[in-house]
Amino acid sequence: MTDLPNFSASRINLYRTCARMYRYQYVDEVPGNTHAYTVMGSALHSAIENYYLHEKNPAGTFSARFNEGVGQAMDRAQLVGTHLVSKAAVLGQEILANIKWWEIRPTDIEVGFSLPFPTKNPRVLMRGFIDMITEEEWVIDHKSTSKKPTKAALAVNPQLIIYCWAYREVRGHLPTAVYWHHLRTQEMLEAEVLVDFEDKLRNLEEELVRILEDKEYPKIERGYFCNTLCAHTDRCWPQHDYGNTLIDEGAIARLWK
Ligand code: SF4
Repeated sequence: MTDLPNFSASRINLYRTCARMYRYQYVDEVPGNTHAYTVMGSALHSAIENYYLHEKNPAGTFSARFNEGVGQAMDRAQLVGTHLVSKAAVLGQEILANIKWWEIRPTDIEVGFSLPFPTKNPRVLMRGFIDMITEEEWVIDHKSTSKKPTKAALAVNPQLIIYCWAYREVRGHLPTAVYWHHLRTQEMLEAEVLVDFEDKLRNLEEELVRILEDKEYPKIERGYFCNTLCAHTDRCWPQHDYGNTLIDEGAIARLWK
């Protein structure tokens, strides 16, 4: 048992996007929205997992999970991009149809971890799931976003650094390579996180301390992101009348094109 607070790499990503949004979501625990394409991404992960683990038909798993996810988000009145539900359902099936299943030889799927981080003088219980580990001891992270990150961004991606650290904590050594699997194009982008790994890990540890000790959670400058992508626009900018709609769904959809 530990009394360390739970943490995850996605929290670091959110904090980098906007510290105030991090506060709303993880300190104040204000519910956010779920986009139709986020539901698609989760359903794709389930379909891939079930295929490799249980040889279940990916299309069937995807449909079941996608419909379930959409229904749950609608029940909570948190579904964003409702006009994109059909498009996301079709896109998800197209992605699955194009995966070269036989080219990946996973030994472990959806490997969960919950480990004190940093290793020395831990501050949090770092939790996460590694999508896939292969025979070659590669770590693979599946992503269904439309945009691909640059090589430089991938090399310092906090999620992938944390995965490598967790891999080493459990297996005693680092993976041999790390790949960001772009599901929409089937490209396996090698993430050079293992280059200068100890420096990157140390930087991440320092960033974690800054996040935990933040008392201000500053807002980002108001602009496109606040106005169109954040569920908390009215909390940050109450003087502006957005009517009943916090999110411009068309703007979100444009991001995914
Ligand atoms: S509205 Fe803007 S400043 Fe406020 S939480 Fe959202 S992204 Fe951050």
